[in-house]
Amino acid sequence: MAREKLELVEVSPRDGLQNEPDVVSTEKKLELIDRIVAAGFRRMEAASFVNPKKVPQMADGDAVFAGLPKRDDATFIALALNPRGVERAIAAGAKEINYVFCASDGFSIRNNGAPVDETFRVWPEVAHKARAGGARLSATISTAFGCPFDGEVSVERVVAVAELCTQQDIFELALADTIGVAAPSDVRERFRAVREVAGGLQLRAHFHNTRNTALANAAAAVEEGVRVLDGSLGGIGGCPFAPGAAGNVPTEDLLYMFDRMGYETGVDLDAAIETAHFIAGVLGRKTPGMVSRAPKWPHA
Ligand code: ZN
Repeated sequence: MAREKLELVEVSPRDGLQNEPDVVSTEKKLELIDRIVAAGFRRMEAASFVNPKKVPQMADGDAVFAGLPKRDDATFIALALNPRGVERAIAAGAKEINYVFCASDGFSIRNNGAPVDETFRVWPEVAHKARAGGARLSATISTAFGCPFDGEVSVERVVAVAELCTQQDIFELALADTIGVAAPSDVRERFRAVREVAGGLQLRAHFHNTRNTALANAAAAVEEGVRVLDGSLGGIGGCPFAPGAAGNVPTEDLLYMFDRMGYETGVDLDAAIETAHFIAGVLGRKTPGMVSRAPKWPHA
C-alpha cells in the first residue's frame, strides 16, 4: 500500500535563526539551505522581508534569495508582514509569500505594528502585489492558540481571523502556536473549526515546543487531516516579539515519528539529523531536538 504523503516545511533558515543573538552569515545560511534541499525537503522558509532594525538576523533576505539553489522542484518561502515586505520579496525573486496576521491585538501591535483589524486593511493590496509579481500567497495566523500579552485566544476569534484571511486568494492557511501553549485537544478543536470556514483550502500547522507539547500537537493536527507541518531542524527558533517563546518543533523528531507512523515525507532522516548537527555547529551550542542525540533506530 502506498504511504500517505505528509509535507514537512523546514523553517530553520527563517523562524529558526531569526531570534539568534549572533547574526549568521549569508554564506552559512545558504549552506544550510543546500543541506536542507539535499536531505529531501522541497519547501522551506528561506528569509523574511521585515524591518532589518527590528530583526537584524533577516537583513540579508535579498542576498539569501539571490544565492538560492536554482531548482524548479523546490519552493523557497519569503515571509512578509506588510506590503513593502511583499514588494521586497518579489523584487528578490520570491515565488511564494507567506503573509502573517495575528489572532490577538496585543501580539499584532508588537509584531505587525497595528491591531488585527487594521492589519487587514492592506490585505487586498498585498494579494494584488503578490499576484502581479507572480508569487503564490499563503497566510499564517500567529498566536492562534494563545497570546503572550492578551492571554487566552478564543476559537471564535481564530475562526473570525481565518475568515478574513480567506477573503483574498490564498492557497494555504496556517495556524501557529507562536508561544507553545496548545494541547492536542486545542489543536483538534481549532483546525476543525477553521476547516469549516476554509473550504477546501490547504491547512498547515506550526508548533513551538515551549511546554513540550509540540510533537503531540503535530500528531493531533495530522489526525485532524492536516498534511503540511512546519518544523525547524534541531528545534531552534523563537519569535523576537514573543517573550519566553522557545524553539520550534524539531523537524527530525517529527520525521522520526511520522516515518514510523507510515507517512511519506520524501526526507531522509539521517541527512536531516546531520543537518541538525550542522546547525548546532554553526550556533556553537547544543540544540533541543531529541532524535539527533539518540542512538540510531532501528540499528543499522
Ligand atoms: Zn514559529
